[in-house]
Amino acid sequence: MNRVILDVKDILGDVGAEKSYSFERDFNPIISETTKLAFSKPVNFDIIIENTGRGVRVKGRISSAVFLECSRCLNEFEFPVEWEIDEVFVTETMPGEDVYTIDETRIDLGPPAEEAFVLAVPMKPLCHDACAGLCPVCGEPLDEHHRAHEEEKVDARMEALRQLLEDKGGESARKA
Ligand SMILES: [Zn+2]
Ligand SMILES: [Zn+2]
Repeated sequence: MNRVILDVKDILGDVGAEKSYSFERDFNPIISETTKLAFSKPVNFDIIIENTGRGVRVKGRISSAVFLECSRCLNEFEFPVEWEIDEVFVTETMPGEDVYTIDETRIDLGPPAEEAFVLAVPMKPLCHDACAGLCPVCGEPLDEHHRAHEEEKVDARMEALRQLLEDKGGESARKA
């Protein structure tokens, strides 16, 4: 679990007070039973934290990029992720309320950030919309580096020969 701890004590005594933060954090890969997300660059936070009376509200923009595997060609590619955060942290939760809490004077932006990154990733990622996938012969991606196979040419010649022989065979059969 990545932790992004901010101490908000500067604004806690003063309802309506706000403070802006702009910083970067390296994130460890997010690993769960269903997900493995590795970051290709630090996570950038550009946020304003406001004292709402019951706690603080965090608004702003969080961005980074993750490595994904293309669901067609299996190549790894970088996928940029950016989202608007709008999250409330309270000093005391009401019964049944599912919100983040302030730990003394500190909040942790790690959990909401991880949740947003996991949700932002497509179920079937594609390196390009037009990704042609993998060659059925060699298993390599069908991109500009891929060359037609010698076997295919040989196969084509064999096929022509086979048809020729078949035609001849047909003729002699008719003659007989
Ligand atoms: Zn692809
Ligand atoms: Zn091939």
